Amino acid sequence: MVKSYQFIMGIDVGGTKIEAVLILLKPGGEFEVIERKRTPTKREKGYSLVLNRIVELIQDLSQKLPHKNRSLSGVGIGLPGTVDPESQLMLNGNTSLFVGRPLKSDLQEALGNETLPIIIENDANCFILAETKAGAGLLYEKETGRSIEEQIGIGIILGTGVGGGLINRGKLFRGRKGGGLEVGHGPLGSRTDGRPCFCGLNGCAEAYLSGTALLQDFKKTSQGFLSEIKISGDSIFEKAKDKSSTSYQIVSNYKKNLSLFLINLTNIFDPDYFVLGGGVSKQQSLYKGLEEDLIKKSFVPESSPKVYKHNLGDSAGVFGAAFLVKNLFDPNKNQALQLL
Ligand SMILES: [Zn+2]
Repeated sequence: MVKSYQFIMGIDVGGTKIEAVLILLKPGGEFEVIERKRTPTKREKGYSLVLNRIVELIQDLSQKLPHKNRSLSGVGIGLPGTVDPESQLMLNGNTSLFVGRPLKSDLQEALGNETLPIIIENDANCFILAETKAGAGLLYEKETGRSIEEQIGIGIILGTGVGGGLINRGKLFRGRKGGGLEVGHGPLGSRTDGRPCFCGLNGCAEAYLSGTALLQDFKKTSQGFLSEIKISGDSIFEKAKDKSSTSYQIVSNYKKNLSLFLINLTNIFDPDYFVLGGGVSKQQSLYKGLEEDLIKKSFVPESSPKVYKHNLGDSAGVFGAAFLVKNLFDPNKNQALQLL
């Protein structure tokens, strides 16, 4: 049954790093990670350079294929912004790098393979796709008996920006132009005098909950004395263990905002669960008391959701990006067979 093996590749382009994974899909649906790589995005260097970095990653991972890129079923790419499902163009995001750029055709041209299937999707959509199908969704099914096909799951990325994705009973909800679940630009602070956001509004969730916002809060209150030290989210949470510290106040405030944010979403979508991803989501202390808070404050306490830490690692998005390719192929037609 070797003929039904498929190789798929996923690329997750984040604000600070690009991750790539090469996966072997086996008959029966199991998958095996063949190779995984990451490289800094260096988005300040511009589109052409980032494009080259993606090309190099694809070529690098393709060295592991039995017949170079002839045996690759396709590449799925997650971008940090709204991606129009029809045109495959990124329409907006916290980096303007990819906005309006024909990434798909540029990659096919640079790779010299104009028929290679490439599918582009919002990174938070990739994240929830992977978590529902292979991570938190399985856990929830085990805990509650509610199958993956019945679940409503929301993925939230707390990274350079704040992104969201929703799986409604097995299907991604994208909205009309891919702008559905742009929850980072939903209201958390005041729309008149809350924190300003790059999108032009005030009070956006991203201005309070992104890793970038968290670092800025810390820098502001440290009054410059830490300017020589490279601070990270980890050190903020480490220092926050001391209840008399400024870090404790910053983290407490962050947790309060995160809880309010999830309550807003619960009152709109009534999901089975949230899964948190992105750099900040690694902090175990975020989860303490969070579900209890949702039960207390959600409009319908009986349906308050579970809150999971990412099950596939904080960069599950790269797996979701690869799974996009799998969904491109009709299993009954075995379109990938000819490639092997
Ligand atoms: Zn905004």
